[in-house]
Amino acid sequence: MGIAVPDLTVPILKNTNAVLAFDEKEAKPWETTACIKCGRCIAHCPMNLMATEIETAYNLKKPEDLEKLKVNLCIECGCCSYVCPAKRPLVQTNKLAKAMLQSYKKLQEEAKKAKEAQGQTDKEAPKK
Ligand code: SF4
Ligand code: SF4
Repeated sequence: MGIAVPDLTVPILKNTNAVLAFDEKEAKPWETTACIKCGRCIAHCPMNLMATEIETAYNLKKPEDLEKLKVNLCIECGCCSYVCPAKRPLVQTNKLAKAMLQSYKKLQEEAKKAKEAQGQTDKEAPKK
């Protein structure tokens, strides 16, 4: 479980529960295979999230689905990746999916503000 860090410059923070060090052989990434829809990732999620569905929504670039699937509730514990027999990088995808949803929401907010500002300008413009 957990997340791999790129090098030793990554700080240890108060929310770091453990640090595991592997040798080159042990650290070799697993070979992933296709999802077999076993549902283990869902059954083991402490937040009752559907990691496999989140992965699909992320791959299809559907941020509105990510919101419905409540990806932001993911605590990134890594249980889903750990139990996945297909060795899919689910927790890593969740992290990327959260970033995708955040960008989508930001764009939505900016569009809303622009629309409101346009409405305000239209109201203030003198009628001919
Ligand atoms: S990493 Fe997120 S989706 Fe996966 S088991 Fe933990 S809380 Fe659930
Ligand atoms: S545990 Fe892995 S193989 Fe099983 S449904 Fe989840 S992603 Fe698919």
